[in-house]
Amino acid sequence: MGYDLVVVGGGPAGLTVSSILKHYNILVVEEHSRPGYPKHCTGLVGEYTARFYVSLLGGDIIDNRYRGAIFHIGGKRYIIESRSGKPLAYHINRPLLEEKLYERTIGLGHEVLLSTKAKPDSNSGVVVEDRVLKPKYIIASDGPLSIFKKRIIGSKPRYLVGVQRVYRGYGFRREYFHITYLPGIPEFFQWLVPLDDDIVLVGYAVYPYRRFDPEKIFSSIARVTGVDIGGVVESYGGLIPLNKPLKKPFINNIFFIGDSLPASKPYTGGGIYAIAYLAPSLARSIELDDPEIYMERYSSLRRRLLLERRVVEIFRMIDYSIPARVLNALYKSSIDPSKYYDYHLGLIIETIKHLPSILVNYM
Ligand SMILES: Cc1cc2nc3c(=O)[nH]c(=O)nc-3n(C[C@H](O)[C@H](O)[C@H](O)COP(=O)(O)OP(=O)(O)OC[C@H]3O[C@@H](n4cnc5c(N)ncnc54)[C@H](O)[C@@H]3O)c2cc1C
Repeated sequence: MGYDLVVVGGGPAGLTVSSILKHYNILVVEEHSRPGYPKHCTGLVGEYTARFYVSLLGGDIIDNRYRGAIFHIGGKRYIIESRSGKPLAYHINRPLLEEKLYERTIGLGHEVLLSTKAKPDSNSGVVVEDRVLKPKYIIASDGPLSIFKKRIIGSKPRYLVGVQRVYRGYGFRREYFHITYLPGIPEFFQWLVPLDDDIVLVGYAVYPYRRFDPEKIFSSIARVTGVDIGGVVESYGGLIPLNKPLKKPFINNIFFIGDSLPASKPYTGGGIYAIAYLAPSLARSIELDDPEIYMERYSSLRRRLLLERRVVEIFRMIDYSIPARVLNALYKSSIDPSKYYDYHLGLIIETIKHLPSILVNYM
């Protein structure tokens, strides 16, 4: 059967686009046997992303809301809370996200091939189960190690390795997540995110060449946050891409979206926002046969990400906790942090505007 569109990768990026496109003959190819598995994500998102997925998939996709964040830096605690009455952040249930997107995709009459790996064909096609398919368009939503990007653009993936454990936990408030900055890990922060009244997701991310004892890191995060952790319920992890976002999000008939671009937020590594931001325009581009619609939307996001990235790379070299301290100083100057969860460039602009009071409030 001939397909108009082959989507390679049934993660949130590929499945979001396939669950929006109605009048198209689509094949989604996913190498794993179950959408959403193996798990890898923390699932923290801001207002924009939460709204987008709730309107697409219904309210049960969000299973926790956070009023604030507690940063632990050099023995001090900084509490940042939403001032708008809306949550500062939301927890999106990750396997449920993919499961619902998968059901929606199937419900629209599209085909999904699980347990199947696709690869690029040298002639603008895609090889699936030893057959060369020549759809009009291909979406390479094949994640941080995208084989399409590697073959077609030739860039080498750079990433952090994220390691996470779900623990039984005690002595925390469900509506606050914690961020720590352990000495010896300058490249990223660590997190402790309540999932329920007695369950927390604890994690850290490091360069792939680093060797750490996970037990020591997890117990340090618990000690610094003051949360008692008990038995491990589950362990999983994944890759957080560090590459620059591609200049152009398509080449010939191949579109990139999600971590294959990558378009994750440079400071937090959060990638679901960009998927929610870009997927509707990619779907429109395909429907109207006009790649420029996607290009325009992507370019505006990329400009922002590149600026944020420049700033983040400086802090990665000096001290990764500086943005959190600056955020705390801005918070004391009355900004509402919930407005900036997905818009870190806005924080950079606010920092420039409030520089004198930040210097006073910094410590
Ligand atoms: C530890 C960790 C924590 C994170 N926390 C957050 C967070 O709190 N908030 C947030 O917004 N983001 C977070 N992210 C990032 C977020 O998970 C990603 O941005 C998001 O999953 C990207 O979606 P994707 O569909 O592009 O890629 P993926 O989720 O990686 O999906 C790609 C899919 O393609 C499949 N695939 C790959 N190659 C092939 C092939 N050749 N053939 C067939 N199938 C293929 C893979 O099996 C996979 O299912 C986190 C990431 C990590 C690693």
